[in-house]
Amino acid sequence: MATDVKASGNAAPAEAGRDFIRDIVKADIDAGRVKEVVTRFPPEPNGYLHIGHAKSICLNFGIAQEFGGRCHLRFDDTNPVKEEQEYIDAIERDVRWLGFDWGEHLYHASDYFERLYGWAEDLIRAGKAYVDDQTHEQIRVNRGTLTEPGKNSPFRERTVDENLDLFRRMRAGEFPNGARVLRAKIDMAAGNINLRDPVLYRILHASHPRTGTAWTIYPSYDFAHGQSDAIEGITHSICTLEFEDHRPLYDWFIANLAVPSQPHQYEFARLNLTYTVLSKRVLTLLVRDGHVSGWDDPRMPTLAGLRRRGVPPAALRDFVRRIGVAKANSLVDVGMFEFSVREALNKSALRRMAVLKPLKVVIENYPDGQVEELDAANHPDDPAAGSRNIKFGRELYIERDDFMENPSKKFFRLSPGTEVRLRYAYFITCREVRKNAAGEAVELRCTYDPATKGGNAPDGRKVKATIHWVSAAHAIAAEVRLYNPLFVAPEPNVAEFAADLNPHSLEVLADARLEPALAEAQPDTPVQFERNGYFCLDADSTPGKLVFNRTIGLRDTFAKDVAKEKTANPAQRS
Ligand code: ATP
Ligand code: MG
Repeated sequence: MATDVKASGNAAPAEAGRDFIRDIVKADIDAGRVKEVVTRFPPEPNGYLHIGHAKSICLNFGIAQEFGGRCHLRFDDTNPVKEEQEYIDAIERDVRWLGFDWGEHLYHASDYFERLYGWAEDLIRAGKAYVDDQTHEQIRVNRGTLTEPGKNSPFRERTVDENLDLFRRMRAGEFPNGARVLRAKIDMAAGNINLRDPVLYRILHASHPRTGTAWTIYPSYDFAHGQSDAIEGITHSICTLEFEDHRPLYDWFIANLAVPSQPHQYEFARLNLTYTVLSKRVLTLLVRDGHVSGWDDPRMPTLAGLRRRGVPPAALRDFVRRIGVAKANSLVDVGMFEFSVREALNKSALRRMAVLKPLKVVIENYPDGQVEELDAANHPDDPAAGSRNIKFGRELYIERDDFMENPSKKFFRLSPGTEVRLRYAYFITCREVRKNAAGEAVELRCTYDPATKGGNAPDGRKVKATIHWVSAAHAIAAEVRLYNPLFVAPEPNVAEFAADLNPHSLEVLADARLEPALAEAQPDTPVQFERNGYFCLDADSTPGKLVFNRTIGLRDTFAKDVAKEKTANPAQRS
């Protein structure tokens, strides 16, 4: 894939919305509790960002912009086993592409490993943390349940000196993975399970993308997150609802450690989308097991996939603004996202003609060798977009689906004896159908009416259909990839996602024909193939072989398409 992503000219405007988090921020500023709002987006670099992250990015960076504060990009890199440099690079690229800039405020939880370690020793010295030798399984069992309190560890009453000694030896790499952990000493009978002596440090002999082998113990998410917020002076630490029950622990650390500031955590509902899986675990498996071509496969809900598919960043921002921010979890219809994509593309995409499944047309009364240049508008609503010349000749291609030999009642396009308008050109009438041995139409012999140039008949006669076409002599061949939903179930079963995969999510049309202007297409410049949808050039293109992706169809045929998928004869999909 192309790795350089243009960020210039793409900065997200401050699109203020109103929601309970913005209300809290505003109230804090109005009351003088906060002078400058500081937020952060804290991805764990264990996968690519997806459309759910876009909601969090727009919220955190958006609030900072709207209230004149700043937003940090902070990698939550506390688990070296799952984290990779590739993900770090992809996350930076994708946040920029979405239109946001962290300026010099790029941070890593790993930047704070030494300070976090120091605070852990402080807790030990204060009698508020201890080294536990129980196994992972024993710790789990002794934690209790929602209805039963937990049991104190037999190691809970170790002396400060013994704890300090063991913790320092954990750091020195003396013990194998899993041998011991450091736990906070809070309350094994707490109603909130997160307060039952949570794990602060675990032993992990693993190389870290940034700190290498300097550390053999790593802090837990809970121990790292709030303290990192405090170090950076974060005022509003915004996260998703599953962390609501962690907030008392977040506050406990802030209250019990000599941290430089007092951040607060606020929770909002994560984005869930129909026909879409946003679990990083599942997305990783889709890539690893080859269900898709990679993290940037255009069927993936990742920002890299959506970008490659041709979705403009403005469409993502618009979608996030429309769905708003709430405190209750819900499921958003993917149709809402598609609405935002069409809105953005309709405004920006230049119109072109492309025939996806070509059927040859020969105009018998058009002089052999003659070529005419016709003027075609680039955008119907935007005269400033100008026009281009398209060439018309005796041999053309039209869309196979625009012809029916035995038309059904409601089919008004081309059939033997009927007349249709060729967009920007002439009326033609089908006179004869030539077929191959299998009985399939391979060529239509037609005539044109020279008096209808430009698309109107001087005698006022009407035609019921206008179809698109390309000149056979001038068209360029291309591969076109049509994407259908990756999952057939509105709410895919995350545990057994493979069963819900759509076997027809990718349809490759190997021999599409495009008007020559499309030779100049660029991956980040969407186009509309008239009557067929919005498309963009794929990074797989080479000068000799262009590949286009369908970003989205022109109309919302989603529900219908999915119903069709279920019964599906893939060959008949269009
Ligand atoms: P993991 O299971 O690896 O923690 P994650 O999706 O939570 O997965 P993070 O990298 O921790 O990934 O997420 C970074 C930020 O994005 C977090 O603040 C998280 O709350 C937010 N986020 C993740 N998924 C969504 C979502 N679907 N909607 C809104 N925000 C999300
Ligand atoms: Mg997370």
